[in-house]
Amino acid sequence: MNQNDQAVPVLVIDDERDIRDGCERILSRMGCRVATAADGRAGLEALEREPAACVLLDLKMPGMDGLEVLQRIKQSHPQALVIIITGFATVETAIEAMKLGAYDFIPKPFQPDQLRLTVRRALERLQLSQQAARLQEERRRTLSDLDTEKSRLRTIISALPLGVLVTRPDGQVVLLNPAFCQMVGLDPAARPGGDLSTYLPAPEACELARRVSLGQANQEETPSLEFTTHDERYLLAQATPILNEEGKGLGAVLVLVDVTAFKMLDRLRSEFVAKVSHELRSPLSTILLQLTLLLGEGGAPRVEGQRHLLVRARERTQGLISFVRDLLDLSRLEDGAGWQEPQEVHLEETLRAVMDSLSTQAEIRGHQMILDLPAEPLPALTADPVGLESVFNNLMANAINYSPDHGRIQVTARNQGGSILVEVADQGFGIEPEKQALIFEKFYRVKNEKTRYVTGTGLGLPIVKSVLESLGGSVSVASEPGRGTTFTVVLPAGGC
Ligand code: ADP
Repeated sequence: MNQNDQAVPVLVIDDERDIRDGCERILSRMGCRVATAADGRAGLEALEREPAACVLLDLKMPGMDGLEVLQRIKQSHPQALVIIITGFATVETAIEAMKLGAYDFIPKPFQPDQLRLTVRRALERLQLSQQAARLQEERRRTLSDLDTEKSRLRTIISALPLGVLVTRPDGQVVLLNPAFCQMVGLDPAARPGGDLSTYLPAPEACELARRVSLGQANQEETPSLEFTTHDERYLLAQATPILNEEGKGLGAVLVLVDVTAFKMLDRLRSEFVAKVSHELRSPLSTILLQLTLLLGEGGAPRVEGQRHLLVRARERTQGLISFVRDLLDLSRLEDGAGWQEPQEVHLEETLRAVMDSLSTQAEIRGHQMILDLPAEPLPALTADPVGLESVFNNLMANAINYSPDHGRIQVTARNQGGSILVEVADQGFGIEPEKQALIFEKFYRVKNEKTRYVTGTGLGLPIVKSVLESLGGSVSVASEPGRGTTFTVVLPAGGC
């Protein structure tokens, strides 16, 4: 690009040649691109050919009067800054010219510095107004982009199959989508603005959203809960906090997922398992009985190899029966039913009884079993006694099974401020960290060189977890491969 293309175009309209030439010289040195005209008409024509950013205009010229020229320039080129140069300026003409939109005055005769100063001021003003116009345009564009973005987001949120509701810290709802309304049975056109409780029919879900809105929930996990609607649908609510830079709660986003289909499937699966297990139990028990009779009454084949086969068949049948029993226990627990009605239970007695029942098994393996109880009696619990027995039977049996011979198994119970804490610790094979979260899943078994000779179903720990959850308690594991495992059970003292 020619450097002159970037120069500011200035037009000088004056009938005095000396003034025109003088201005041209001074302004060209300032970096302007100067055009000149000797009268008003020629000046207007020159402007049509090339618009000027700044016009120096003599007021008194032969032909068209300067004020008229000014008027026409303001009409055709309102952006151009007009500086009046005249020797005949009176206050009246000055006011008149300013009213018509002149930018400034230079009285004739003027010094080059005076001209430079006035023109420079005009050019600066020009630059500022160009910058302002650019900023204005950018702002307009950003706003329109934001508008497009906003409406795009609104469309996406409206089209989501998940229910979405956004609250402020005070529980006021600021956004909700049609899927949310449909899930909770609201009019799909419901408007935000009211309190959370008018939109969400489940008090516990409201409570969760309020807590999260205030930033009171644990920030690492997304708190969630399940609730049912009046038309028997299961909804899973997950609340995510909206936090400012200082971590202060600005509100929450509550997402609802309809999990009814999963629940139905789960129920069908449980019913199926329960039915199949039930059907399997009686024939298996009959086979076991017959095998036991056959082996016990001497009616079994004399050939030792054949007798061995029958012994093996009896073992396998016994294994199957305990598998079926575990399956039935689990589906009963998942249905919310226990074994017995809750009653007063003294945990010390339960722990002693379970340890006694496993003592022969432990002795065969050479394990030492220690029960460490506090001097003060533990507070009584109200719980299903068979459920509690099953919890500690599973944990202690696992400690025996997953330890090499001659291990040490310690069961410690403590009263810890409103809760009873029981630890079942062994020095056995241990569990790799990445598998520790999986062992509470149904049918999961750790498979390695050490565990391959241990028979089991992978249902013991899920039963432990289900029983404890139904009692309002919990179970956790800490383990190090090769060093041992500790399961910690927490039970709320008093009424479970
Ligand atoms: P099962 O013992 O019938 O396989 P569980 O549900 O009781 O089923 O246990 C699941 C898995 O967790 C086991 O297969 C075993 O690998 C691991 N496990 C449980 N308890 C222990 C323990 N005390 N030490 C090492 N591994 C254990």
